[in-house]
Order: sequence, then C-alpha cells, then structure tokens
Amino acid sequence: MQLSKTGYYADFIIYPLLILGLLGVQLAEATTWRPFGFVFLCLLGFAAWTLCEYLLHRYVLHRVPILHDMHEAHHANPSAFVGTPSWASFLMFSVGALLPLSFAIGFTYASPVTIGLMLGYFCYVVVHHVTHHWRLAPDSPLYRFKHRHARHHFAKTPGNFGVTTLFWDVVFGTSLEAGSRERRSSFLRGFGRFLG
Ligand SMILES: [Zn+2]
Ligand SMILES: [Zn+2]
Repeated sequence: MQLSKTGYYADFIIYPLLILGLLGVQLAEATTWRPFGFVFLCLLGFAAWTLCEYLLHRYVLHRVPILHDMHEAHHANPSAFVGTPSWASFLMFSVGALLPLSFAIGFTYASPVTIGLMLGYFCYVVVHHVTHHWRLAPDSPLYRFKHRHARHHFAKTPGNFGVTTLFWDVVFGTSLEAGSRERRSSFLRGFGRFLG
C-alpha cells in the first residue's frame, strides 16, 4: 500500500530493534546457552523466510484481490513509497509465527526461528529498496538482484518472485533467468504446474 516516507523507512529501524530485543529476551531467559543450536535455528528461520517471501509474493500479492491491487501500485510506480506497513509485518511475525511456534515448541526454540524470519524479512526490505532506489554499476555485487527483480517487473511472463534469492523460482519453475527453465527436472516442472 502507499506509505508515507516515514512509514516506508520505519522497517529499517524497527526490525533491527525487534531482532535485538528478542535476542536480549532470549539471553535473559536462557538458563543454558547453546550458541550452535541458536545459530542453527536462526538459519532455519532465515531459510524459511526465503520460501515465505516467494509464496507471499506469488500467491498473496499477485493473487489475493485487494492485496493484488495494492501490490499493483508498486508495479505501476516502482520508485514510489509503496510497501507493507510495519504493523502488518509485525503482526505476521508475532501472531503468525512467534506465538504459535512458542505454543508448539516453546519460546526458547521459537525465538531464534522468529529472529531468523525477521532477519530474512529485513534483508528482503533492504534488497528490494536497493533494487528500486539505488543506481548500481554492472560490476556491483547487488546489480544481479536489481537486474533479476527488474525482470519480475517488466517481463511479459510472470516470474522471479524471489527478491533475496532465485532459489525458489528455480525450484518451482518461475525463474526468468536464461537457461534455468531448461535446467529444471521434469519432476520440478510438474510440481510447479501443480502449484499453478
Ligand atoms: Zn510483484
Ligand atoms: Zn519491486
């Protein structure tokens, strides 16, 4: 949806604070500290975010009626301050992830997974901002992200729904990068068709 400049940039402040806050709570709550387990669960959350990012973009922002119209405003005017309000993403991570995960596996394990999810979301917000608002030289490491996301916006075929990674587009057969469609196995091609 269309946001104010403050609303648009709020994620850049709120998410590092939320991540640090949750990390602080985790450290205060922990009776025994297992750094490897913690990092593993964070990485799991981060990886899970990349799949959420793909599915939310492909099936929610491009298909669910009202949300599709809001996302369409971003496609129509890619440099405008259009995005997901911080309160909505906060609800998604708190009520949609941390709360049910805490009930299922306990706060000690749910917290690092949620930190990983939020870290992934923060990366998504930063990378998406950079692709639209920064001028990047072709030799910049971020240039390929910009190029890839530009294809999502301007190619006639729908695809490149992942912003932080092309991995799920390759898995589900929606990559618009040269050669990747040919490289897919027939199983993945069928799975992609199954998902629509
Ligand atoms: Zn889109
Ligand atoms: Zn975009």
